[in-house]
Amino acid sequence: MAPWKRPHRVAPLTYKTCDQDYLMYLFQDQGKGRLDSLEVNPRSLNPDIIIQRLDHLDGNIYNLSKSVEALHENIKQIEYDLKLQDNSKTEVCQADNAKEGKKILHPLLYPDSFLFKCWGTDLKEEEQTVVQNLFIKYGHNVYLSEWLPLDRPIRDTRSLSCITKTYPKDLLTLSVVLIFLNEALSIILCAITSIIKRTPSHLLKENILVDDYSSNDDLKEPLETHIKNYNAKHPGLLKIIRHQKRQGLTQARISGWEASAADIVAILDAHIEVNMEWAEPILSRIKEDRTVIVSPVFDNVCFDNFELIRYSVAADGFDWALWCFYEALPDEWYALNDEAATVCAGNAWQCGGKIEVLPCSRIAHLERAHKPYLPDLSIAVKRNASRATEVWMDDYEYMFYFAWNLRHPGIDFGDVSSRKELRKKLGCKGFDWYIKNVYPNLIPLPNVVGYGTMKNTLKEDISLDQGPVPGNTPIMHPCHAYTPWHIFYHSAGEMYVGGLHAQWDTVDRCLTDPGNGDLPVLEQCDTAVNKSLNLHWDFKQGSAIIN
Ligand code: UDP
Ligand code: MN
Repeated sequence: MAPWKRPHRVAPLTYKTCDQDYLMYLFQDQGKGRLDSLEVNPRSLNPDIIIQRLDHLDGNIYNLSKSVEALHENIKQIEYDLKLQDNSKTEVCQADNAKEGKKILHPLLYPDSFLFKCWGTDLKEEEQTVVQNLFIKYGHNVYLSEWLPLDRPIRDTRSLSCITKTYPKDLLTLSVVLIFLNEALSIILCAITSIIKRTPSHLLKENILVDDYSSNDDLKEPLETHIKNYNAKHPGLLKIIRHQKRQGLTQARISGWEASAADIVAILDAHIEVNMEWAEPILSRIKEDRTVIVSPVFDNVCFDNFELIRYSVAADGFDWALWCFYEALPDEWYALNDEAATVCAGNAWQCGGKIEVLPCSRIAHLERAHKPYLPDLSIAVKRNASRATEVWMDDYEYMFYFAWNLRHPGIDFGDVSSRKELRKKLGCKGFDWYIKNVYPNLIPLPNVVGYGTMKNTLKEDISLDQGPVPGNTPIMHPCHAYTPWHIFYHSAGEMYVGGLHAQWDTVDRCLTDPGNGDLPVLEQCDTAVNKSLNLHWDFKQGSAIIN
């Protein structure tokens, strides 16, 4: 497997999908079993066979015309998507509603609610309240999800090269784990139904539900009854593990993994719908190489209208703060000219493993508008990420603390000794090796001599702030700990203002003196260097900053 290379920047496109299911199923049929009828075989000169062939040809032409239609639809979706990138979703919805002559029939009780930006304009006032309360409780449109059929068809979002691929029949068996904390019952049932419907039954050994101590009533007896009903049709398929106290999503995943009896374990959120042939690429890849950890491509189910939005294939990357993000694919991937080719992703590499994204395995994931269980994720993420840093990042951990603007160690990350021992036992490689060989996207800044927020000692409650964006005028502003206030001072005198990126494709901004008596400005650091702008500052704690 080639190491991670710096990707070539291509803006990831998402494709709006709406009601293309019918067309896409035709599209998919067209992709399967076609080439065999083109094979030249002398015995086939028999007139009956020729007529049969002509029939096939007829079918082919029909299918081809359907796939051209489907491509047209895809282009329309891309255009719609580009429109969404230019304008906000609300503006596009309002414009579309106006075009279709849709009127708002009832006064909108919650005009600021994200749920009603594009959906629900025809609901009566009392319905709006029910819907809004469910939205606040769950972070998505539970009212609508209760109306949708559990086995709703979803569009096949794979590329043609995936659709035409075939997989061996004798694959390893699979346990699917779904973890949840107070998720909507309709959503969990929809996930289970999609798994049963779209996973070959001879490979699906079990579906394990892990309840991380939910309090919702419908997840108690009513869920048990549904499990019994599923098991009546598919004996022994569904199992449930209930935590006796909330342990968090990682422990929930581990509980499911420990209970699994199949050869391979797929661990998923409970708000997903697996798509066509999602499991086969995963099971085939692990059969080839058991050291690989694989991820499907996640498409997005909109939290308001449950439309499926196709996401482009991307790699799962992370920044210095260890926040994960989708990363554009490397040049090498495009050079392969195979949309089914695997993509390298993330960490595991240090211990001889690999992480890969498989473009032919697709799972629709409901991205909630908010997380009901935690309004501010950063507290938990900061602690978890500190633990990962302490175990894995060696001499580079300073970059993590820079990115969070923390002092080292700065946060109680608990006991990581058993993790460090495990790393030693497995003989894992260092983070330096990882940065140089697998993930050169992260650029360390060894020359930073000071960081934090810059205050004026005459008035300590205001700090230097990057100022409005877009714009390049720094200002003094009441202090906060957010990234627009973060400053990084380099030994050569550069002062980075407004958070730390230190990645190959993002630019940090440097405090610069225009040299004409005007106030300082922020310039992209590389531009400032290229144009020889005045970007070096003398600074000692407690005294003035002088260019
Ligand atoms: N979850 C859990 N325990 C918790 C928090 C979350 O079991 O304390 C479950 C949650 O129900 C979901 C999964 O963990 O199925 C992942 O959470 P979430 O969907 O909020 O994460 P995201 O997909 O947004 O990263
Ligand atoms: Mn989720």
